[in-house]
Amino acid sequence: MFTSLAGKTVMVTGGSKGIGKGISVVFAKQGANVAVVARNAEAAERCAEQIRKDGGSANSFQGDVADLDSMKKVAQSVADMFGGIDILCSNAGIFPSAAIEEMTGEEWDTVMNTNAKGSLYAIQASLPYLKNAEYGRIILTSSITGPLTGYKGWSHYGASKAAQLGFMKSAALELAKYNITINSVLPGNIVTEGLENLGENYLNEMAASIPLKRLGHVDDIAYAACFLASKEAGYITGQSIIVDGGQTIPESLDAMA
Ligand code: NAP
Repeated sequence: MFTSLAGKTVMVTGGSKGIGKGISVVFAKQGANVAVVARNAEAAERCAEQIRKDGGSANSFQGDVADLDSMKKVAQSVADMFGGIDILCSNAGIFPSAAIEEMTGEEWDTVMNTNAKGSLYAIQASLPYLKNAEYGRIILTSSITGPLTGYKGWSHYGASKAAQLGFMKSAALELAKYNITINSVLPGNIVTEGLENLGENYLNEMAASIPLKRLGHVDDIAYAACFLASKEAGYITGQSIIVDGGQTIPESLDAMA
């Protein structure tokens, strides 16, 4: 039904772990060349190696999305290796907790620089190659937290995830002339190493508040990203898909009964 992603090159920031690793593995299964980008080179290589062992095409690239020069070097290396970049999954993100009364400016900046400015830098670095693609695709990993919901301790994180969406609207207009679309996926609570670090209480509390009664799987996000990357999604730009098991729907506890 959908045109194959085989032969397309996808650059996945934060591709070494969690949702990004899920995106990398699923795109590789569709036949795409996958560039796994992360600061920890060994972790990125472990993911790329696993994909290659399973018969896919992948390579790892060390890079920091908060550093434009680093991202430019990564994008150049990806294009040199695979002959271009067709799809950017701007997924790298951090979610440290800090109460407003105690949060330092540095903590705020670190989250904004990684999650919001990191998307800008990943896009700026890959844009010269996306412009040469048959049809360029950018998929942002935002979150329900910020754009739709709140959680104590994550005001800076929520601000960064909402910032990605505000950025996306204007970016959609600027990039349309290059036949590049930009859309976002808003994950709910997805089981990843990062989420597991928040503890069993958090995971149990979250699962109970989700109508589908389970936390999400990284593949749930990866398949939404694959759809947005497809040729057939070419008339969709500046939009968001919420992938949260219905978590943001209930108006009250009664509505969950
Ligand atoms: P994770 O398991 O902690 O993985 C984060 C990935 O991002 C790692 O590959 C990490 O590798 C990379 N990364 C972090 N900072 C980076 C930087 N400055 N430059 C390059 N890479 C960087 O997190 P996750 O749960 O998969 O989250 C991935 C994305 O999904 C984030 O944007 C997050 O906000 C979003 N999200 C997650 C959930 C969830 O339930 N898990 C829900 C909503 C949204 P290095 O540390 O080696 O760089």
